[in-house]
Amino acid sequence: MSSLQNTPLSEQLRIVLFGLRNSGKSYLMNNIFEKEVSIVSDNAGTTTDPVTRSMEMGILGPVSITDTAGLDDIGELGALRIRKSVDRLSVCDISIFVTRADLPPKEEEKKLFYEIAEKNKVVVFALTFADNSINEEKINWVGNYPKVLIDNVGKKGLDELKKTLISLSDKLEYEITPVEGLVSENDFVILVTPIDLAAPKGRLILPQVETIRDLLDRDCGILIVKERELKYFYDSLKIKPKLVITDSQAFSKVAADIPDDQMLTSFSILFARKKGDLSYFVEGIKKLKSVPPDSKVLVLESCSHHKQADDIGTVKIPRLFKQLVQSKVEFEFAHNIPDEKKLKEYFLTINCAGCMVSKNRMKRRLEALKENNVYSINYGLFLAWVNGLLPRALEPFPLEYELYNRD
Ligand code: SF4
Repeated sequence: MSSLQNTPLSEQLRIVLFGLRNSGKSYLMNNIFEKEVSIVSDNAGTTTDPVTRSMEMGILGPVSITDTAGLDDIGELGALRIRKSVDRLSVCDISIFVTRADLPPKEEEKKLFYEIAEKNKVVVFALTFADNSINEEKINWVGNYPKVLIDNVGKKGLDELKKTLISLSDKLEYEITPVEGLVSENDFVILVTPIDLAAPKGRLILPQVETIRDLLDRDCGILIVKERELKYFYDSLKIKPKLVITDSQAFSKVAADIPDDQMLTSFSILFARKKGDLSYFVEGIKKLKSVPPDSKVLVLESCSHHKQADDIGTVKIPRLFKQLVQSKVEFEFAHNIPDEKKLKEYFLTINCAGCMVSKNRMKRRLEALKENNVYSINYGLFLAWVNGLLPRALEPFPLEYELYNRD
């Protein structure tokens, strides 16, 4: 299997082609992939929904490239398409601004560019129609930003575009791996993975798979056990594990079966750090002491996974919250962040580990929550707190451990 097939979409670097209608985005997409992935036509607005394909790109590794609808689309449907394009744009790592080299910049393009520059996006200009005479005003407008002249018909400029994208690698913010900074070569780690009704048939879940792979990449030894067998195997070990990582739902049993001085955390906390903002979640946990009655709490899951009767997000966490934090709260559930007006209604959000979404998407979500003064926690931290295992589960993260203990 290639690394492309092994790498979930959420872990791939995201590149988005955007621009006005008929700027040559879809043509460029097809030329990059050397096959027809987007429909090309002379009629403006042929690309309706974003089209995404993946490829390997040198040191950038597996990348996903998305062709979006023109940002000057018209009508009610056009407005919807623009919303989808803007959504992709706001969570991408690199944006490729596709614009005609033979025309001066249009007002919509100037406005668009201003918005992107404001968001500090890493941007590359693909100046299409470069087989025509080049417009000086366009070149001056692009200024010192990385730019590549593209002739889609003659298929020229494509290698240069890929080289330019690769050259931007040091400007990108990379998502850390699950155990980054926590283990060293030859460390021994125990992973506790309950195989219960909630576990998918015949496989492990993504956070477990990614953690195993990361530990192997770091030349660590791994013991993978269910929570029932943990004590037996732990007691027969000759070397002390550097770390025990458990599923959040087995926290209390695992903590009871290993010595108090054994470093312990959960997959969900690793992913809170990897995808989100662990310090922000720790601040949120400290607010659990003062949740006002009649406040609203939003459970934010990032995908619609198959739900069991005692589902963690919709059943277990709301039940524990009402028993241990505040009985008079109203729970709501969503997969996407609501609009600003609705968001302001919530005191707190409880976020899943976000294993299926990119760090950028989670970052955008958390920024919106912070801007609207909504506190946030995540499943793993909440379950550790419920089981009396905070701050212990934060010991591997000195900054957040200190933050939790600070008044
Ligand atoms: S709900 Fe969240 S943690 Fe669960 S599988 Fe989906 S993205 Fe991952």
